[in-house]
Parts: sequence; C-alpha cells; structure tokens
Amino acid sequence: MRELVVATRNAGKLREIRHLLEGAGIIVLGLDAFSELPEIDEDGHTFAANAAKKAETIARLTGRPCLADDSGLTVEALGGEPGVHSARYAGVQGDDAANNARLLKELADVPEGRRQAAFCCVMALCLPGEPTCFFEGRVSGQILFAPRGTGGFGYDPLFLVDGGGRTMAELPLEEKNRISHRGQALRQVVAALAVEHV
Ligand code: IMP
Repeated sequence: MRELVVATRNAGKLREIRHLLEGAGIIVLGLDAFSELPEIDEDGHTFAANAAKKAETIARLTGRPCLADDSGLTVEALGGEPGVHSARYAGVQGDDAANNARLLKELADVPEGRRQAAFCCVMALCLPGEPTCFFEGRVSGQILFAPRGTGGFGYDPLFLVDGGGRTMAELPLEEKNRISHRGQALRQVVAALAVEHV
C-alpha cells in the first residue's frame, strides 16, 4: 500500500481527497498525523505556486511523498476574483458564510447570464528526489442569487453547475467528485502514482 501525506487543514477538501484516493488503494495521512508542522503562508499569486510551496515544504519536513491542492473560485464579472483569495475573501481564513455573503454582495448588480464562474484546482505532487508534478481540474457554472443545498463546503451552495440544474451543494459526494475540479485533478494523480509505483 502506498502512503501519501495530504497537505490540507480544510476538512471538506480532506474528506473529498481521502474518499477518492482511498478508493484507489492509497493510504492518506492528514497533517494531524504529524506534530509541530508550521502553518504555511499561501502568499503565491497562482494556484500552482501555492500548491507547490505546500507540497514541497511538507514533503521536506515529513520526509514522505506529499500531495497539496490549491483551489478556488474564479468569477468572470469580478475579473477572476476571489481566485487565490477564495478562502479568505471576507477577511477571515475559512469563514465560508462570510465569504459567500461577500460574493453575493459583489455580484448584487450583475444580472443572470453574466454570472459565469469556475472552480479551479491545481494539485502538486512532491515525491522524494523528483521534480514536483502538477495536475489541474476545472468545472464551470453560474453564481446564484441565493444558496441552495447543504452538502459540500465553501461556495458550493451558490455554484450552479453548468448543464446539470443543481448546485455543487445539492450533489452527493460521489457525484461531486465525479465532476469537480478536485476530482478531475485527483484522477490524474492516481494515474501518475500507478505508473510511478511510489
Ligand atoms: P485553499 O485551501 O487556499 O485552496 O482554499 C480554497 C478555498 O476555495 C476554499 O476555502 C473555498 O472557499 C474555495 N473552494 C475550493 N474548492 C471548493 C469546492 O469544491 N467547493 C466550494 N468552495 C471551494
């Protein structure tokens, strides 16, 4: 069995990543399995820069293969924001309710049909002695005027998936993983690990 440290403290993300990787026979170690790991400042200007920084730092400190994801919501009418600032859009890291409230406020005057958005994910895989590899996923949709659904996390209740008529928060976990930005990137990670025999 292969072991992989997954460098996230976001419980929603860890749940999704664990579900997919463990289904592929990979043992996922969360950061809580290691004591005294520092907080890593996500100060990059791109998802890839932040994912690489997290994966490389945690791989070095734990001495184990590490996978990190950086992801977020990009909204066309907001010039791509919140983007890399998604987790702290309203000022406090990880306050989903406040982030969603700010998103609705910023888009208050933007009519239906001009509320296109995408969830983007970049995963960085850092294996001992090898250059960091990157994997990407993207799913497009529209931002609603009010939340719908109770599943998922973050901006899921406001994100109407293109072509499906349901928000991300209205999808069961399996279904979200099948179409989501993170699911797309993770399936590429699983394929790469199968080839590398880590
Ligand atoms: P990160 O931990 O810096 O990658 O922050 C990602 C942030 O983007 C999360 O806190 C959410 O606000 C948002 N986000 C990323 N993926 C998702 C998703 O699948 N659903 C809803 N929000 C997401």
